[in-house]
Amino acid sequence: MTEMTGTTGTDATVRPVARVVDAVRVQEGAGFWVRRPFPTAALPMIDPFLLLDEMGPSELAPGEAKGAPDHPHRGFETVTYVLDGETEHRDSAGNHGTIGPGDVQWMTAGSGVVHSEMPSHALQEAGGRMHGFQLWVNLPRAEKMQAPRYQDLRAADIPRVEVDGGSATVIAGDAFGVRGPALTHVPITYVHLTLDPGARVEVGVAASQEAWVYAFGGSARVGRDGRDVRDGQAAIFGSGDAVSVAAGDAGLQALLLAGQPLREPVARYGPFVMSTKQELIEAFDDFEAGRMGAIAPQVG
Ligand code: MN
Repeated sequence: MTEMTGTTGTDATVRPVARVVDAVRVQEGAGFWVRRPFPTAALPMIDPFLLLDEMGPSELAPGEAKGAPDHPHRGFETVTYVLDGETEHRDSAGNHGTIGPGDVQWMTAGSGVVHSEMPSHALQEAGGRMHGFQLWVNLPRAEKMQAPRYQDLRAADIPRVEVDGGSATVIAGDAFGVRGPALTHVPITYVHLTLDPGARVEVGVAASQEAWVYAFGGSARVGRDGRDVRDGQAAIFGSGDAVSVAAGDAGLQALLLAGQPLREPVARYGPFVMSTKQELIEAFDDFEAGRMGAIAPQVG
């Protein structure tokens, strides 16, 4: 048993596990399957997090890759993390880019964008492996109507720390002595953990924050009480100021998330996340009237 200490002091209270949930399988976009630990009827959100989708892993034949063609967002952030394959992004503000393995796009939809998220041309033509995540992070009510913002974070700029028995890639927040590059509106920690069988890490998380872990390969023993968490399950931590994650017999791949809850009303429908029903209606009206723009036709 090994232990890595992040910002944890010797008197840290390791959080227990409050609950464990199973991801459901849902079809998204133009018809690709995702595993979704939340939102579900049983777990609508983990404030300030609104959704996590795991896309793949899948081995796609030529012509089989599907994405999410033109659709709007308003009022929150979409965070795409690619492990395998390539995602090409286009939007109504004229932005265009491709992210590949290890890259992150942290998009603040703010007052509204229309975008498309598609497998790259090469992946559509030749097929290949696709695996990645999309996380939705709510925005504080007072910041929902800000101008859209993009952070394209390249793998080379995201610190990957060796821990005893594995590694931790820190996309956002402070963990394992490094700071992830993502700018966030409230304190957020986003870490990808890869642990060998039996390895264990402990990370300090402010007592005021929500914290959870999603296992997507292998299995884990999580929290003060060492609860078993299988591939495709998320564990939500209870109160305390540190979290503990240990890998099971087959090792572990997991996302570890923490964030400051907003504790504000949430009105959500499809691609819009606002604070009231009236604001949702305004979002639909603005989208339908073209006030969120449209993606310019591609030339050639
Ligand atoms: Mn989208």
